Amino acid sequence: MSTAYPHLLQPLDLGFTTIKNRVLMGSMHTGLEEEKGGFAKLAEYYEARAKGGVGLIVTGGISPNFRGRVAPFGSELSRPWQVAKHRLITDAVHRHDSKICMQILHTGRYAYHPFSVAPSKIKAPISPFTPKAMSERQIRTTIAHFARAARLAQKAGYDGVEVMGSEGYLINQFICPRTNQRSDQWGGSFENRTRLAREIIKAVRAEVGPNFIIIYRLSMLDLVPDGNTFEEVIALGKTVTELGVNIINSGIGWHEARVPTIVTSVPRAAFSWITAKVRQHLSVPVVAVNRINTPEIAEQILAKGEADMVSMARPLLADPEFVNKAAANQAHRINTCIACNQGCLDHVFENKRATCLVNPFACYETELKLTAVAQPKQIAVVGAGPAGLAFACYAAERGHKVSLFDSAGEIGGQFNYAKQIPGKEEFHETIRYFNQRVTELGITLHLNQRQTAQSLLAGKFDDIVLATGIVPRQLQLPGSDSSKVLSYLDVLRDRKPVGARVAIIGAGGIGFDVAELITTEQSPSLSVTEWSRIWGVDSQYSERGGLTKPGKEHNPREVYLLQRKTSKVGDGLGKTSGWVHRATLKQKNVQMIAGVTYKEITDQGLVIEVNGQTSVLEVDHIIVCAGQLPLRELQQELIAAGQSVHLIGGADVAAELDAKRAMRQAAELAVVI
Ligand code: FAD
Ligand code: NAP
Ligand code: SF4
Repeated sequence: MSTAYPHLLQPLDLGFTTIKNRVLMGSMHTGLEEEKGGFAKLAEYYEARAKGGVGLIVTGGISPNFRGRVAPFGSELSRPWQVAKHRLITDAVHRHDSKICMQILHTGRYAYHPFSVAPSKIKAPISPFTPKAMSERQIRTTIAHFARAARLAQKAGYDGVEVMGSEGYLINQFICPRTNQRSDQWGGSFENRTRLAREIIKAVRAEVGPNFIIIYRLSMLDLVPDGNTFEEVIALGKTVTELGVNIINSGIGWHEARVPTIVTSVPRAAFSWITAKVRQHLSVPVVAVNRINTPEIAEQILAKGEADMVSMARPLLADPEFVNKAAANQAHRINTCIACNQGCLDHVFENKRATCLVNPFACYETELKLTAVAQPKQIAVVGAGPAGLAFACYAAERGHKVSLFDSAGEIGGQFNYAKQIPGKEEFHETIRYFNQRVTELGITLHLNQRQTAQSLLAGKFDDIVLATGIVPRQLQLPGSDSSKVLSYLDVLRDRKPVGARVAIIGAGGIGFDVAELITTEQSPSLSVTEWSRIWGVDSQYSERGGLTKPGKEHNPREVYLLQRKTSKVGDGLGKTSGWVHRATLKQKNVQMIAGVTYKEITDQGLVIEVNGQTSVLEVDHIIVCAGQLPLRELQQELIAAGQSVHLIGGADVAAELDAKRAMRQAAELAVVI
């Protein structure tokens, strides 16, 4: 069979070993590393990705010593007795002809504990702890600890290690003047600032011998002031290569950078240009990263010669079978990562186990299992939003006979509104995926059919799952019946015209999304060039760090985004994406006001009180995004008729509902029903 992805599926020969294709599963912490019994779960998690065809896996970061740990109980490889648990992982991966490298990560000043160390005593803006400046002796010991971790990794059966030299971690902190103000042989000149990186690579290579992969994660674009110049990046890349690095992986942006690098509004492959620019100067394979989530994009990068491999982390969380599906020319069957960060990175930053919004089984491989049923049931699922779709597919996978109903003309529920928001176009992919799954699993789909208790009871189902979602909360204010008042459904579903001056009541996820929609002229997605201009990413690399002055995006409207709480507007948004939403709207001069009391709606506009001061926002429209209430009108009648009924998603609990919770609840019900 000829493949649509010849470059992606081509083996990569490193001389002493061959990687079976060009897919590198990028390093991602899961939280299982620190859980009791977590390595057995990790083994199954990685095995699923190896079985799914990934060429080379890089583990989540493992610290070479105590001070370098991410958090007080963060994972570390420094003692021989720790080797055995890593063996579980390497054995599992090697059962499937994949390779696996362990990432050695010293966090430096990003450590979330009081024992952090760094080149200089300068606190990171994203950590509450001020690091101690490392003594010369500590530096030497740390180098030895990297070598020790590599030796132990080799003993544990890994095929290599990745030395984490980017994203603002310890090695990167030494390399950049921003964080290195030392005046000894480890600071000052470029030669001195890169000494740590060189010494680590030398020590690791000496320890592991020639036939062991060393990947170096090179910070190609620091995206912070006082980062490196392009010439310095190249010089460092060449030096570590000469010292024995086999693969250069790309690092894009420090964690403290104020430029988003992986959230969903970052265009696909937005940073492959820098990998291409660096690759021209290097003699070893180079890996492209960030916002690569389809085989088409990956293939394009490789075919254009921008990189030799592509790194994907989240896309393999979303679909462990990504590579096999691509190899079988079935890209349309891939469960695409929508770059929401909600299940993965947000969890990691909240010290919770990672998972995936679109694949609740990720990192729960040993706990949530879809085993075949002995006695298939006839199940009706009412509502084809994320909860209903997920449940219908998981139940059908187990062998149940599923009928899926929706009153709308298409599946997707509220994802059909989410996908219209500029920068959230990836949500189309989830709907495409579920359309495919519904067909291939033989689920009977009934669209344009609003169900009643009678219609459902007539179907004589064994179980009925109500996934009917929500209704928007309505305003109870004098004047709320004014023609100025619109609900978010009026705007997103019914496309009612919106005036030039707008107040949005409610600054939750939907309020922010509506603000984004009505302040954006250029939709759908921005091009990489336009996006880079707005965020100040300099593809000319004329300044240190690759930053330039951010540009402006034209906003056609005057918008107020309001909430009653006195906390910062947008505080409840995702940990790793909320700041991007806030920065985008700020850049477009959206007025975000907290501590608002809504008084009334008049012909003039919205009367509000803030800090005891009453004022009128003279607006053409008021869009209500004031939360949601569960829609479960069918429940009582069905129960009264003796029917077995289950509620999932918004129909169950609408408060603080998101698609991650809706789909997880669907999975939890599907494994037991
Ligand atoms: P819904 O998606 O509401 O689906 C319910 C379905 O039931 C609907 O299709 C409806 O037509 C159908 N239905 C109802 N009654 C009947 C009946 N009697 N007969 C037949 N069919 C019926 N969540 C996130 O996690 N991340 C995001 O980034 C995000 N962005 C969003 C952006 C916007 C603009 C909006 C509006 C929502 C967003 N959400 C997001 C929220 C997310 O979409 C919801 O949490 C999720 O859709 C809830 O899933 P659900 O299946 O419970 O309900
Ligand atoms: P939400 O996040 O709960 O926000 C509701 C907003 O309405 C809040 O700002 C709340 O703030 C306000 N509000 C609540 N009751 C009100 C009342 N009676 N009168 C006036 N204002 C009121 O809900 P949502 O925006 O409707 O979003 C629904 C769900 O979709 C959310 O849970 C969210 O997680 C999910 N979603 C997520 C994203 C994402 O990017 N992750 C995007 C969109 C939606 P005050 O009470 O302070 O006024
Ligand atoms: Fe991708 Fe969202 Fe899943 Fe993370 S949670 S892997 S970003 S789809």
